[in-house]
Amino acid sequence: MANLEDLPIRDDLRGLKPYGAPQLEVPVALNVNENTHGIPEPVALSIVENLASVVMQLNRYPDREFVELRAALARYLGSGLESSQVWAANGSNEILQQFFMAFGGPGRKALSFEPTYSMYPIIARSTSTAYVEVPRKDDYQVSVELVTKALETHKPDITILCAPNNPTGTGLSLDVIAAACEATTGMVLVDEAYAEFSGAESATSLLGKYPRLVVSRTMSKAFAFAGARLGYLAASDAVVDAMRLVRLPYHLSALTQAAALAALEHSPLMLENVDKIKVQRDRIGSACEGWGLKVHPSDANFLLVDGFNDPEKVFQALLDKGVLVRNVGIPHTLRITAGTEQETTKLLAELALVLD
Ligand SMILES: *Cc1c(COP(=O)(O)O)cnc(C)c1O
Repeated sequence: MANLEDLPIRDDLRGLKPYGAPQLEVPVALNVNENTHGIPEPVALSIVENLASVVMQLNRYPDREFVELRAALARYLGSGLESSQVWAANGSNEILQQFFMAFGGPGRKALSFEPTYSMYPIIARSTSTAYVEVPRKDDYQVSVELVTKALETHKPDITILCAPNNPTGTGLSLDVIAAACEATTGMVLVDEAYAEFSGAESATSLLGKYPRLVVSRTMSKAFAFAGARLGYLAASDAVVDAMRLVRLPYHLSALTQAAALAALEHSPLMLENVDKIKVQRDRIGSACEGWGLKVHPSDANFLLVDGFNDPEKVFQALLDKGVLVRNVGIPHTLRITAGTEQETTKLLAELALVLD
Protein backbone atom coordinates (compact mmCIF):
# COMPACT_ATOMS: atom_id res chain seq x y z
CA MET A 1 0.00 0.00 0.00
CA ALA A 2 1.35 3.42 -0.93
CA ASN A 3 1.16 6.36 1.45
CA LEU A 4 -0.03 9.74 0.24
CA GLU A 5 3.54 11.02 0.67
CA ASP A 6 4.75 8.44 -1.85
CA LEU A 7 2.44 9.66 -4.60
CA PRO A 8 3.41 12.31 -7.15
CA ILE A 9 0.76 14.66 -5.80
CA ARG A 10 0.85 18.38 -6.68
CA ASP A 11 3.59 20.15 -4.69
CA ASP A 12 1.14 22.66 -3.25
CA LEU A 13 -1.02 19.86 -1.82
CA ARG A 14 1.84 17.90 -0.31
CA GLY A 15 1.58 17.50 3.46
CA LEU A 16 -1.92 18.99 3.72
CA LYS A 17 -4.77 17.61 5.79
CA PRO A 18 -8.33 17.51 4.42
CA TYR A 19 -10.46 20.34 5.80
CA GLY A 20 -13.74 19.79 7.61
CA ALA A 21 -15.42 20.27 10.96
CA PRO A 22 -15.47 17.12 13.09
CA GLN A 23 -18.58 15.02 12.34
CA LEU A 24 -19.38 13.59 15.76
CA GLU A 25 -22.52 11.80 16.91
CA VAL A 26 -23.69 14.08 19.71
CA PRO A 27 -27.14 14.92 21.11
CA VAL A 28 -26.65 18.68 20.54
CA ALA A 29 -24.68 19.58 17.39
CA LEU A 30 -24.25 23.35 17.15
CA ASN A 31 -21.02 23.44 15.19
CA VAL A 32 -21.74 23.90 11.47
CA ASN A 33 -24.57 26.45 11.39
CA GLU A 34 -27.21 24.07 10.09
CA ASN A 35 -30.88 24.70 10.74
CA THR A 36 -31.22 22.08 13.48
CA HIS A 37 -34.99 21.79 13.10
CA GLY A 38 -36.02 18.82 10.97
CA ILE A 39 -37.86 18.94 7.64
CA PRO A 40 -41.59 19.59 8.21
CA GLU A 41 -43.63 16.47 7.45
CA PRO A 42 -45.71 17.89 4.57
CA VAL A 43 -42.49 18.92 2.84
CA ALA A 44 -40.91 15.53 3.47
CA LEU A 45 -43.90 13.88 1.79
CA SER A 46 -43.66 16.18 -1.23
CA ILE A 47 -39.95 15.48 -1.54
CA VAL A 48 -40.53 11.73 -1.46
CA GLU A 49 -43.26 12.04 -4.10
CA ASN A 50 -40.99 14.08 -6.35
CA LEU A 51 -38.13 11.64 -5.89
CA ALA A 52 -40.42 8.72 -6.68
CA SER A 53 -41.48 10.40 -9.91
CA VAL A 54 -37.91 10.52 -11.22
CA VAL A 55 -36.60 7.20 -9.95
CA MET A 56 -37.84 5.21 -12.95
CA GLN A 57 -35.92 7.54 -15.30
CA LEU A 58 -32.61 7.37 -13.47
CA ASN A 59 -31.28 5.36 -16.42
CA ARG A 60 -31.20 8.71 -18.25
CA TYR A 61 -28.93 11.68 -17.55
CA PRO A 62 -30.67 14.56 -15.79
CA ASP A 63 -31.54 17.90 -17.38
CA ARG A 64 -28.06 19.39 -17.73
CA GLU A 65 -29.51 22.89 -17.64
CA PHE A 66 -31.96 22.16 -14.77
CA VAL A 67 -34.32 24.76 -16.22
CA GLU A 68 -37.22 24.00 -13.91
CA LEU A 69 -35.07 24.33 -10.81
CA ARG A 70 -33.49 27.57 -12.01
CA ALA A 71 -36.94 29.03 -12.63
CA ALA A 72 -38.01 28.01 -9.12
CA LEU A 73 -34.88 29.54 -7.60
CA ALA A 74 -35.42 32.77 -9.57
CA ARG A 75 -39.01 32.93 -8.28
CA TYR A 76 -37.78 32.34 -4.74
CA LEU A 77 -35.22 35.15 -5.01
CA GLY A 78 -37.70 37.57 -6.58
CA SER A 79 -36.33 41.05 -7.46
CA GLY A 80 -37.35 40.44 -11.09
CA LEU A 81 -34.60 37.86 -11.65
CA GLU A 82 -34.86 35.61 -14.72
CA SER A 83 -33.95 31.93 -14.65
CA SER A 84 -31.17 32.73 -17.15
CA GLN A 85 -29.51 34.69 -14.32
CA VAL A 86 -29.51 31.77 -11.90
CA TRP A 87 -27.13 28.82 -11.66
CA ALA A 88 -26.97 25.97 -9.13
CA ALA A 89 -24.54 23.33 -7.94
CA ASN A 90 -24.03 20.77 -5.19
CA GLY A 91 -23.80 23.29 -2.35
CA SER A 92 -22.57 26.85 -2.56
CA ASN A 93 -19.05 25.54 -2.00
CA GLU A 94 -19.29 24.01 -5.46
CA ILE A 95 -20.67 27.30 -6.75
CA LEU A 96 -17.57 29.00 -5.30
CA GLN A 97 -15.33 26.38 -6.87
CA GLN A 98 -16.90 26.81 -10.31
CA PHE A 99 -16.66 30.58 -9.89
CA PHE A 100 -12.93 30.31 -9.08
CA MET A 101 -12.39 27.94 -12.00
CA ALA A 102 -13.95 30.49 -14.34
CA PHE A 103 -12.57 33.74 -12.95
CA GLY A 104 -9.52 32.74 -10.90
CA GLY A 105 -6.73 30.32 -11.73
CA PRO A 106 -2.96 30.57 -12.28
CA GLY A 107 -1.70 34.16 -12.36
CA ARG A 108 -4.90 35.47 -10.82
CA LYS A 109 -5.68 36.73 -7.31
CA ALA A 110 -8.64 36.60 -4.97
CA LEU A 111 -9.14 38.84 -1.96
CA SER A 112 -11.35 38.69 1.11
CA PHE A 113 -11.56 40.26 4.55
CA GLU A 114 -10.48 38.11 7.50
CA PRO A 115 -11.57 36.50 9.69
CA THR A 116 -13.98 35.01 7.18
CA TYR A 117 -15.16 31.71 5.74
CA SER A 118 -12.34 29.18 5.81
CA MET A 119 -13.24 27.57 2.47
CA TYR A 120 -12.19 30.64 0.45
CA PRO A 121 -8.42 30.06 0.78
CA ILE A 122 -8.91 26.32 0.27
CA ILE A 123 -10.83 26.81 -2.98
CA ALA A 124 -8.29 29.44 -4.04
CA ARG A 125 -5.50 26.94 -3.50
CA SER A 126 -7.17 24.05 -5.27
CA THR A 127 -7.79 26.29 -8.30
CA SER A 128 -4.23 27.70 -8.14
CA THR A 129 -5.52 31.19 -7.46
CA ALA A 130 -3.41 33.52 -5.30
CA TYR A 131 -5.25 34.62 -2.17
CA VAL A 132 -4.94 37.79 -0.10
CA GLU A 133 -6.68 38.35 3.22
CA VAL A 134 -7.12 41.92 4.43
CA PRO A 135 -7.93 42.28 8.15
CA ARG A 136 -11.37 43.55 9.11
CA LYS A 137 -11.66 46.48 11.50
CA ASP A 138 -11.62 45.81 15.28
CA ASP A 139 -15.37 45.20 15.39
CA TYR A 140 -15.13 42.90 12.31
CA GLN A 141 -16.84 45.52 10.14
CA VAL A 142 -15.82 46.20 6.55
CA SER A 143 -16.24 49.86 5.67
CA VAL A 144 -16.41 51.66 2.31
CA GLU A 145 -12.92 53.10 3.00
CA LEU A 146 -11.44 49.71 3.90
CA VAL A 147 -12.86 47.97 0.84
CA THR A 148 -11.93 50.76 -1.54
CA LYS A 149 -8.35 50.98 -0.29
CA ALA A 150 -7.89 47.19 -0.29
CA LEU A 151 -9.10 46.80 -3.88
CA GLU A 152 -7.05 49.74 -5.12
CA THR A 153 -3.93 48.36 -3.39
CA HIS A 154 -4.22 44.68 -4.31
CA LYS A 155 -6.16 44.84 -7.59
CA PRO A 156 -7.69 41.37 -7.18
CA ASP A 157 -9.41 39.49 -9.98
CA ILE A 158 -11.96 38.18 -7.47
CA THR A 159 -13.25 39.95 -4.36
CA ILE A 160 -15.31 37.97 -1.88
CA LEU A 161 -17.57 39.63 0.64
CA CYS A 162 -19.31 37.31 3.09
CA ALA A 163 -22.59 38.90 4.19
CA PRO A 164 -23.42 38.16 6.98
CA ASN A 165 -19.86 37.10 7.66
CA ASN A 166 -18.98 33.63 8.89
CA PRO A 167 -17.61 33.17 11.60
CA THR A 168 -18.29 36.61 13.10
CA GLY A 169 -21.96 37.13 12.16
CA THR A 170 -21.20 40.68 11.04
CA GLY A 171 -23.65 42.22 8.59
CA LEU A 172 -22.66 44.24 5.53
CA SER A 173 -24.44 47.19 4.02
CA LEU A 174 -25.16 47.58 0.32
CA ASP A 175 -23.04 50.73 0.05
CA VAL A 176 -19.92 48.66 0.88
CA ILE A 177 -20.82 46.15 -1.84
CA ALA A 178 -21.46 48.98 -4.30
CA ALA A 179 -18.11 50.55 -3.31
CA ALA A 180 -16.36 47.24 -4.01
CA CYS A 181 -17.98 47.06 -7.46
CA GLU A 182 -16.88 50.63 -8.16
CA ALA A 183 -13.29 50.01 -6.98
CA THR A 184 -12.43 46.96 -9.10
CA THR A 185 -12.47 45.80 -12.69
CA GLY A 186 -12.56 42.21 -11.37
CA MET A 187 -15.47 40.11 -10.20
CA VAL A 188 -17.19 40.69 -6.84
CA LEU A 189 -18.86 37.73 -5.17
CA VAL A 190 -21.17 38.34 -2.21
CA ASP A 191 -21.64 35.14 -0.22
CA GLU A 192 -25.15 35.38 1.24
CA ALA A 193 -25.23 31.91 2.82
CA TYR A 194 -27.08 33.38 5.84
CA ALA A 195 -29.21 35.96 4.03
CA GLU A 196 -32.55 34.64 5.27
CA PHE A 197 -31.51 35.33 8.86
CA SER A 198 -30.51 38.90 8.10
CA GLY A 199 -32.67 41.98 7.96
CA ALA A 200 -30.30 43.59 5.46
CA GLU A 201 -31.32 44.04 1.83
CA SER A 202 -29.89 41.39 -0.51
CA ALA A 203 -27.15 42.35 -2.94
CA THR A 204 -29.39 40.91 -5.69
CA SER A 205 -30.88 44.43 -5.86
CA LEU A 206 -27.53 45.67 -7.24
CA LEU A 207 -27.24 43.07 -10.01
CA GLY A 208 -28.89 45.32 -12.61
CA LYS A 209 -26.25 47.97 -12.04
CA TYR A 210 -23.10 45.81 -11.76
CA PRO A 211 -22.65 43.06 -14.39
CA ARG A 212 -19.55 41.72 -12.56
CA LEU A 213 -21.40 41.23 -9.29
CA VAL A 214 -22.36 37.68 -8.23
CA VAL A 215 -24.57 36.76 -5.29
CA SER A 216 -24.22 33.22 -3.96
CA ARG A 217 -26.82 31.52 -1.80
CA THR A 218 -27.41 28.12 -0.28
CA MET A 219 -30.29 25.96 0.87
CA SER A 220 -28.00 24.53 3.60
CA LYS A 221 -28.58 27.06 6.36
CA ALA A 222 -31.92 28.84 6.91
CA PHE A 223 -33.57 26.55 4.37
CA ALA A 224 -32.88 23.43 6.45
CA PHE A 225 -31.59 21.44 3.46
CA ALA A 226 -27.88 20.92 4.13
CA GLY A 227 -28.01 17.19 3.42
CA ALA A 228 -29.47 17.69 -0.05
CA ARG A 229 -26.50 19.84 -1.22
CA LEU A 230 -27.97 22.71 -3.18
CA GLY A 231 -26.25 26.05 -3.60
CA TYR A 232 -26.90 28.65 -6.25
CA LEU A 233 -25.94 32.05 -7.57
CA ALA A 234 -27.66 35.01 -9.12
CA ALA A 235 -25.75 37.19 -11.56
CA SER A 236 -25.83 38.44 -15.14
CA ASP A 237 -26.60 35.92 -17.91
CA ALA A 238 -22.95 36.18 -18.97
CA VAL A 239 -21.72 34.92 -15.58
CA VAL A 240 -24.03 31.93 -15.93
CA ASP A 241 -22.51 31.30 -19.37
CA ALA A 242 -19.07 31.31 -17.70
CA MET A 243 -20.25 28.67 -15.20
CA ARG A 244 -21.30 26.45 -18.11
CA LEU A 245 -17.71 26.41 -19.37
CA VAL A 246 -16.34 24.86 -16.17
CA ARG A 247 -19.19 22.75 -14.78
CA LEU A 248 -19.11 19.02 -15.31
CA PRO A 249 -21.92 17.89 -17.58
CA TYR A 250 -24.92 16.69 -15.52
CA HIS A 251 -23.37 17.85 -12.25
CA LEU A 252 -26.77 18.21 -10.59
CA SER A 253 -28.42 14.83 -10.24
CA ALA A 254 -32.07 14.24 -11.10
CA LEU A 255 -32.64 13.34 -7.43
CA THR A 256 -31.14 16.62 -6.24
CA GLN A 257 -33.21 18.59 -8.72
CA ALA A 258 -36.41 16.80 -7.75
CA ALA A 259 -35.82 17.19 -4.02
CA ALA A 260 -34.89 20.86 -4.28
CA LEU A 261 -37.96 21.61 -6.44
CA ALA A 262 -40.24 20.07 -3.84
CA ALA A 263 -38.55 21.95 -1.01
CA LEU A 264 -38.82 25.25 -2.88
CA GLU A 265 -42.52 24.72 -3.44
CA HIS A 266 -42.80 24.80 0.34
CA SER A 267 -40.45 27.74 0.98
CA PRO A 268 -42.57 29.34 3.73
CA LEU A 269 -42.72 26.02 5.62
CA MET A 270 -39.01 25.36 5.14
CA LEU A 271 -38.26 28.82 6.53
CA GLU A 272 -40.82 28.73 9.33
CA ASN A 273 -38.22 28.28 12.08
CA VAL A 274 -36.01 31.21 11.10
CA ASP A 275 -37.62 33.60 13.58
CA LYS A 276 -37.53 30.98 16.35
CA ILE A 277 -33.83 30.40 15.69
CA LYS A 278 -33.15 34.13 16.00
CA VAL A 279 -34.95 34.12 19.35
CA GLN A 280 -32.63 31.31 20.52
CA ARG A 281 -29.60 33.16 19.14
CA ASP A 282 -30.50 36.22 21.17
CA ARG A 283 -31.18 34.06 24.20
CA ILE A 284 -27.65 32.62 23.97
CA GLY A 285 -26.29 36.14 23.50
CA SER A 286 -28.04 37.55 26.57
CA ALA A 287 -26.97 34.64 28.76
CA CYS A 288 -23.34 34.93 27.64
CA GLU A 289 -23.34 38.68 28.23
CA GLY A 290 -24.81 37.99 31.67
CA TRP A 291 -21.75 35.84 32.37
CA GLY A 292 -19.47 38.70 31.39
CA LEU A 293 -18.58 37.33 27.95
CA LYS A 294 -18.53 39.54 24.86
CA VAL A 295 -20.94 38.64 22.10
CA HIS A 296 -20.35 40.00 18.62
CA PRO A 297 -23.50 41.35 16.95
CA SER A 298 -24.85 38.69 14.55
CA ASP A 299 -27.12 38.89 11.53
CA ALA A 300 -26.95 35.10 11.15
CA ASN A 301 -27.95 31.92 13.03
CA PHE A 302 -24.76 31.75 15.07
CA LEU A 303 -22.78 33.84 17.52
CA LEU A 304 -19.09 34.44 17.94
CA VAL A 305 -18.66 34.55 21.70
CA ASP A 306 -15.51 36.20 22.99
CA GLY A 307 -13.82 36.23 26.38
CA PHE A 308 -13.02 32.58 27.12
CA ASN A 309 -9.62 32.22 28.79
CA ASP A 310 -9.22 28.77 27.33
CA PRO A 311 -11.77 28.17 24.54
CA GLU A 312 -10.45 24.68 23.77
CA LYS A 313 -11.06 23.64 27.37
CA VAL A 314 -14.62 24.98 27.23
CA PHE A 315 -15.13 23.29 23.86
CA GLN A 316 -14.01 19.95 25.30
CA ALA A 317 -16.02 20.31 28.52
CA LEU A 318 -19.17 21.01 26.47
CA LEU A 319 -18.41 18.09 24.17
CA ASP A 320 -18.06 15.79 27.18
CA LYS A 321 -21.67 16.75 27.97
CA GLY A 322 -22.83 16.07 24.41
CA VAL A 323 -22.81 19.66 23.17
CA LEU A 324 -20.68 20.32 20.10
CA VAL A 325 -19.72 23.91 19.27
CA ARG A 326 -16.88 25.25 17.12
CA ASN A 327 -13.46 26.58 17.90
CA VAL A 328 -12.60 28.46 14.70
CA GLY A 329 -9.18 29.46 16.02
CA ILE A 330 -9.87 33.11 16.82
CA PRO A 331 -8.23 33.60 20.24
CA HIS A 332 -10.61 33.53 23.24
CA THR A 333 -13.68 32.75 21.12
CA LEU A 334 -16.10 29.97 20.30
CA ARG A 335 -18.69 29.99 17.54
CA ILE A 336 -22.08 28.66 18.57
CA THR A 337 -24.95 27.83 16.23
CA ALA A 338 -28.43 28.70 17.48
CA GLY A 339 -30.58 25.57 17.44
CA THR A 340 -33.93 24.59 18.86
CA GLU A 341 -35.21 25.90 22.18
CA GLN A 342 -34.38 22.56 23.84
CA GLU A 343 -30.86 22.53 22.43
CA THR A 344 -30.31 26.06 23.68
CA THR A 345 -31.53 25.11 27.14
CA LYS A 346 -29.05 22.23 27.25
CA LEU A 347 -26.20 24.39 25.89
CA LEU A 348 -26.79 27.17 28.41
CA ALA A 349 -27.12 24.77 31.33
CA GLU A 350 -23.81 23.07 30.47
CA LEU A 351 -22.05 26.33 29.68
CA ALA A 352 -23.12 27.77 33.04
CA LEU A 353 -21.53 24.76 34.78
CA VAL A 354 -18.32 25.02 32.74
CA LEU A 355 -17.93 28.72 33.46
CA ASP A 356 -18.58 28.26 37.16
C1 LIG B 1 -22.06 27.08 5.09
C2 LIG B 1 -21.47 28.11 4.20
C3 LIG B 1 -21.37 27.91 2.81
C4 LIG B 1 -21.53 26.62 2.08
O1 LIG B 1 -22.57 25.91 2.26
P1 LIG B 1 -23.02 24.74 1.25
O2 LIG B 1 -23.56 23.74 2.18
O3 LIG B 1 -21.85 24.28 0.46
O4 LIG B 1 -24.04 25.39 0.40
C5 LIG B 1 -20.90 28.95 2.03
N1 LIG B 1 -20.53 30.10 2.57
C6 LIG B 1 -20.59 30.32 3.89
C7 LIG B 1 -20.15 31.62 4.42
C8 LIG B 1 -21.05 29.32 4.74
O5 LIG B 1 -21.05 29.55 6.06
